[in-house]
Formats: sequence, C-alpha cells, structure tokens
Amino acid sequence: MTASSTFQDALVRVRALAELANIDLEIIEGLLHPKELIMVSLPVRMDDGSQKYFSGYRCRYNSILGPTKGGVRFHPNVNEDEVKALALWMTIKCAVIGLPFGGAKGGITVNPKELSPMELERLSRVYIRVLADFIGPHRDIPAPDVYTNSRIMGWMMAEYDSIKRTHAPDVITGKPIELGGSLGRDDATGRGAYLCALELIRKMERALTDISVAVQGFGNGGYHVARLLQQAGCKIVAISDSQGGIYAKKGFDVESLWQEKQRSKHIKGVYCNGSICEMVEHESISNDELLSLEVDILIPAALEGVITKDNAHGIQAKAIIEIANGPILSEADNILHSKGIKVVPDVLANAGGVTVSYFEWVQNRSGQTWTLEDVQQKLKEKMTAAFEAVWDLAENEKRTLREAAYIKALRKISAAVEAHGTHNYFNG
Ligand code: GLU
Repeated sequence: MTASSTFQDALVRVRALAELANIDLEIIEGLLHPKELIMVSLPVRMDDGSQKYFSGYRCRYNSILGPTKGGVRFHPNVNEDEVKALALWMTIKCAVIGLPFGGAKGGITVNPKELSPMELERLSRVYIRVLADFIGPHRDIPAPDVYTNSRIMGWMMAEYDSIKRTHAPDVITGKPIELGGSLGRDDATGRGAYLCALELIRKMERALTDISVAVQGFGNGGYHVARLLQQAGCKIVAISDSQGGIYAKKGFDVESLWQEKQRSKHIKGVYCNGSICEMVEHESISNDELLSLEVDILIPAALEGVITKDNAHGIQAKAIIEIANGPILSEADNILHSKGIKVVPDVLANAGGVTVSYFEWVQNRSGQTWTLEDVQQKLKEKMTAAFEAVWDLAENEKRTLREAAYIKALRKISAAVEAHGTHNYFNG
C-alpha cells in the first residue's frame, strides 16, 4: 500500500477492522467495491466564448442502509481515487450516527477560484444535467463539501427540478434557507465536532478554560469549531489556512480573525494588517509547525493525508479531533496510539454536517420547517449518543476510538446484509 492511493488507504482500515469485528468474509468483500462509479466530461462555455471540459465524478459506494448521501467537492485535486475513498467514509459515517443513508461522494476537478460566478453556475448546472438520472431523493442526495456552498446547491436543485419537471427540494441538502435549506446546516459540521470536543474534555476531566486548541484549516468547519470552543472558554492558540498560520500563546479572538479573513481572503494577509496584529501578538508558523504544537487538542480541518508516519512522531497534542475527512493516514494510527494520543475519528467528529443534512431531507419530505433550537437540540442528541456509544465500545472492547467507530458501523451494515441472507443462510 502506498500513501498515494487514498482509497487503498481507506480499504486498509475497513479490511483490518471488519476482521476484528468478526464480519463475514462475504460482507467484507462487498465493502471493498463501490456500487456505482461514474466519470463524466462537463463542457462549459466560458465567459470569453471558449468551450472548456472539466472532469466530474459521482460514486455511490454502498446503499444497504438507504439512499446514498454525500457532498460534491470542487477542487483541483479531485480524482476517481479520492472520490471513492470519500464515498466509503460517508458509508461508515452515516452508519456510525445511525442515519438511514448509504454513502456517496462527488466532485469536479476544478479550481473554483479561477471561475467567474457565471462560469461556476454553468459548471454546477451541467454536473446535474449529466448526472440527473443517477441522483434523486430516494436514490442519491448530494450536499456541499470542500469549496461548494449553499448557493451552488440551490443552482443544482433548480437544474434537477427543470430536467425532471418537478419540485424536489429533497434531492439535495445544504440549500439556501430560502430554497428549503435547514436552519443550523451552515455551522453543523463545526458544531458536531465541538460537541465531540465537549464530551472528550469531560472524559479527560479537564476544565474547558484549561484547554488549548490548534486548528489546521480555516474554512467553514474550522471556523465554527474554533468559534464555538472559544465561546465555551477554550483558548484557540493557532489557526492556519493553505497559505500558512498564526500562533499566539494568549489565544486569538476567532470571530475577528474570520472577519479579517473574509476581507483579505487568507490568514497570511492578516498577519500584520491592522486589527489582528493590534489585538494580540503572534508568530507566523507553517502548517507543519502547527501540527506539532504542544496543545491539548489539535483539529485538522483541511484536506486528507496531512498526518503520516513521517510527522506522527512529532505530534505533541494530547488529542486530535478530525474535522477534515481522512487527515490521518492509516500508517500513522499506531504511532499516535502508542504516544497515548486520543483520536476522535472523522467518521464521528465531522458527522454533524450530514446529520443536519438528514434533518433537512426529513423537513423537505414532510413539508415541515424546524426551528434553530430544534435542529441544534436534535444534533446534540445524535452526536452525543454516537460519541458515548463509540466511547463505551472502545472501553469495553479495548479499542481506539477509530476502531470502535468502524466496528460499530460495520456491525450495523453487516446486520443489514445478513437480513438479506449470506452463504450461511443459503448454503449453511
Ligand atoms: N460533505 C459533508 C461530509 O463530508 C456533508 C455531506 C452531506 O451533508 O451529505 O460529511
């Protein structure tokens, strides 16, 4: 196995943990193969009149627990291998939380920052035009992921509606509130991770005001988890984005930093740009330096594969909460475990987003609109219950939290497959 294949790395964990969980070989075999994978060419008329082709993907990994669910990523590194891995993780994630969904993921290989708003709209719509027969409210329900947002989900829904001559808000989640989106979806991923952090800190028997946190990645997830943890009393001592990071022992005011980032587009631009510099002294640090800071909680909130066997030895955090999908390669799992670092895995820690997507889908299907309080309360119940179940399984079966989360999910998926019958039933 080489780290160059994200999907192979994802399979390493599934294989090993399915064996640990005593899952039937026939069922394990079924989990190694995505159910459907489609690659499409997306022609877009650019603003200068030229025609450009982009590569698009959608993978429906496994649908034993329900229609498949997962985001659409717009990023230059999107490829078939990554989409399959992300779709597999969605399968595990939905099962860990107990949502009635299988896992999927999609993406387009593009740097959306290089497109005009009109080009971006045309690209988003052509993706749905080409994939309209593969998705659907009972089949596969897309949502936002890296570099996609509610406006893009709105365009995608509108395109689906016009192709199918229907109104189907439940075909996509993460929509603008005005178009059937759910209150509380915008900060749901960060809030879910925050709820996991609260539980973890309680288990560590530490006071919130004693906790220092470093966040790698300052997009939607990273911002909201940092904001909520700071409001709860924790000190956010380091934050970075793809350009680099900042560190201050005294901690940052996350909201001001976010406002500055919105103005200047990246954290680097705010190092010495008025208010942030005046607010608190800080040092510029690289993303690698941030990962090895001596903090209580490290939160990787950017892309996959940032913690490897090469830098895992240098991690000094007491705990890691994975808000990105797949930030730790499987080769680093044992190193972190032997250092006594607790890892709350992505399939649990970042599940707040898909959980509120599920609430959005339920509201759309039943014609209801829930209040923000309702959504946040239900999210808290789901996340806390899943965290506790994973924690207890880890304690009882002497497993890491990642192993426990996978074992819980794999048992659930396996029970559903068994209900159809495997060789034990047909030939047993
Ligand atoms: N893209 C998010 C994830 O990786 C959310 C998916 C969804 O809401 O369906 O979990």
